[in-house]
Amino acid sequence: MGYIELDVLDNQPKRVVIGIDLGTTNSLPAIWKDGRPEVLRIEGEPALVPSVVHVRNDGTAIVGRTARAQALDDPEHTIHSVKRFMGQSLSDVDPAVLDRLPYSVTETDRGLVQINVHDKSFSPQELSALILREVAAQASVAMGGAEIMSAVITVPAYFDDAQRQATRDAARLAGIEVLRIVNEPTAASLAYGLDQRKEGNVAVFDLGGGTFDVSILSIEDGIFQVLSTNGDTHLGGDDVDAVLMDMIRQEAEGSAKPSTFDDPSYRQGARLASEKAKIALSSKPEAELVLSLPEFGVNVRKRITREEFDAAITPLVDRSIKSCAQALEDAGLETKDIDEVVLVGGSTRIPLVRAQVEQFFGRTPHTELNPDEVVALGAAAQAEILMGGSRDILLMDVTPLSLGLETVGGAAEKLVQRNSRIPCSITEGFTTYVDGQTAIEFHVLQGEREMAADCRSLGRFKLTGIPPMPAGLAKVGVKFHLDADGILTVTAKEESSGQTASIEVKPSHGLTEEEVDVMLQQSFDNAKRDFEERRRVDLIAEIGTMLRHTEANLDVAREHLDRESVEDLEEAIAAAKAAGKSIELDEVQAARDVLDRATIPLAAVLMDGVVKQAVAGKKLGDV
Ligand code: ADP
Ligand code: MG
Repeated sequence: MGYIELDVLDNQPKRVVIGIDLGTTNSLPAIWKDGRPEVLRIEGEPALVPSVVHVRNDGTAIVGRTARAQALDDPEHTIHSVKRFMGQSLSDVDPAVLDRLPYSVTETDRGLVQINVHDKSFSPQELSALILREVAAQASVAMGGAEIMSAVITVPAYFDDAQRQATRDAARLAGIEVLRIVNEPTAASLAYGLDQRKEGNVAVFDLGGGTFDVSILSIEDGIFQVLSTNGDTHLGGDDVDAVLMDMIRQEAEGSAKPSTFDDPSYRQGARLASEKAKIALSSKPEAELVLSLPEFGVNVRKRITREEFDAAITPLVDRSIKSCAQALEDAGLETKDIDEVVLVGGSTRIPLVRAQVEQFFGRTPHTELNPDEVVALGAAAQAEILMGGSRDILLMDVTPLSLGLETVGGAAEKLVQRNSRIPCSITEGFTTYVDGQTAIEFHVLQGEREMAADCRSLGRFKLTGIPPMPAGLAKVGVKFHLDADGILTVTAKEESSGQTASIEVKPSHGLTEEEVDVMLQQSFDNAKRDFEERRRVDLIAEIGTMLRHTEANLDVAREHLDRESVEDLEEAIAAAKAAGKSIELDEVQAARDVLDRATIPLAAVLMDGVVKQAVAGKKLGDV
C-alpha cells in the first residue's frame, strides 16, 4: 500500500503520518496515498469522529458518535464545542457562549477555562486529546492496524499562539507528534493544489456546524499568507436547523401538549427531522419536515420548497456575506482581485450559500471536493510535502457525471454521485418487483436527470437464474466499481443462489467536456420538472406494491372487516389503479394517501390473533 512509511520494522505495525481536521463539530483524518490525499474510511464511510466527549457516572469518558448520542439525554455531562475554549481564559470567552452551555465551565487559579463534569475537572487540552486519540484510533482501524505516530493538525486562521500551543499540547497528551499546525483555509487551498499557482489571492469561505470563518489568503511562489480573517463564532448549520425547528413547532403548536417543546426527546426528534430536511433540500427542490411523536400529540408532515427554505435562511446567509465584504476591506482588496474561491464546511452544500458566494465574488467557487473533507485532505497534502514527497498530480480524477441504474417505472437511481473520486466502489441492494420473477434486467445509466430516458445509456445486462420467490424477497447486491483508469464494472449477485452477471463499460468513452456541460445544464434547467416526474413514477411503483399486498390480504381478511371499511378499501383500490395511469403528480399522491389510510383497518385486523390463526396455513409472503 502507498502509505507514508516512517519506520517499518519487521513484525511491527506500520507507522504513518496523517492529516487531521480537528473541528468544532466533527474531526476527520486523511492520508496521502497513490499520489493524492484521501479521507480515511471504514467500510466505505468516512472515519469521522464527532467532536464530543461524554463522561459517565463512574468518571470514564466516551468519545465521538456514541458520546453525541448522549447530548440530549444527558447534556450536563456531554461536552461539545470544546475547540471554542482552547488556550482561552474564561474572560476571553463571550458570556453569551457560556450562557448557552449545558455543562459547567469555571476557571483555574491561573484564569484558564476548565470544564467540570461529575466531580472531575478537565482542561480543553485534555478533552481535545481524547478526541484526537479517538481520531487516531479510527484512522488506525481504517488502515488495518497501522500505528499513528505523527500528524499535521489544522486550526482556524485566527487562532493565536496560546490556542495553537493548546492544540499542540492536546496532541502530545494523545501521544501524537505534531509535524505542523496548519491554518484551515491554507489546508483547503492546498487540497485544491492552489499552491501550484505562481501568485494570486484566494478567498476561503468556511461555514460549518456552529461557526463561520472567511479568510483572504495570498499565494506567492507556493507560499500562503493570511491577509485577513473575519467571521461569526455563532453562525452555522445549527442555526439553519433552528429555523426549520421553528417551522415544526408552529405546525405542532395547535395539537401538542404544553410541556412538549422543552422535552429533550421532542427537541432531539425535531432537530434530526430538521437536519434531514435541510440536507434533502441541498439536492432537491423540495423536502418534507416529518415528525411523529404521538405521545406528545405531535404529528407534523409539512412540505417545504427550496424557495421557502431560501427565504427563511436569507438573513443567516446575508450575515456571512457581510463578513466577506469586511474581510476583503481589511485585506485591502476588492472582489475583482480574488482569483480563486474555495468552499469549506458541510453547510456550504446549501445551494443558496453557493449562489450568494458566487454572486458576491463574481466567480464560481471550487466545489469539486467535499466541503466537509477538504480541510483534512489539505492536512494530508501538507504532511506529504513535509515528508518530502512530490505532488505532481494533485488535481483529482473525478467522475464528471453520476452513474446509476434504471429502476421500476423508469426512474434513474444514482449509485456513484457526480464528482466522486476514482477509483471507487459502491454496493446497493435491489430486489424483485413481481412474484416468481427469475430474471432482472439492469440498465446502466450516466447523467444527472431523474428519469432514465433523459440519461445517457451505457449498456444493459441481465441476471438470470433467480430462484422463484415472492416479490421483494430476493436480495440482489449490485456493485459499481470504477477503477483508476475510469473503467466501470457493474456486477449483480443474487444472494441465495450466488448467481452473478456483470458488464464492463468506459463511461467517458465518446463523451466530450462540452457534452458534460450540456448534460449538467439540462439537469439544472429541468430540476423541478424532473423531481416531480421522478416522484410520480416512484409513487406509481409504490402503489403497485401496495395494491398487490392489499388485494391479497383483503381476500384473507375480508370477513373480519366491517362493511364500511371494505367499501372504502375497494374504492381506494379502484382509485389507485386509475391513478397508476395518471400523469398528474397530485392525483397520484392523493390516491396513494387514500389507499394508505384505507388499509389501516385491514392492517389492524391482520395484527389480530383471529386472522393470524385464519392465515396460519398460508405462506408468509402471501400475507
Ligand atoms: P465543523 O467544521 O463545524 O466541525 P462541518 O464542516 O462538518 O463542521 O459541518 C457540519 C454542518 O454541515 C452540520 O450543521 C450539518 O448539518 C451540515 N451539513 C452536512 N451536510 C449538509 C448538506 N448536504 N446540506 C446542508 N448542510 C449540511
Ligand atoms: Mg470545519
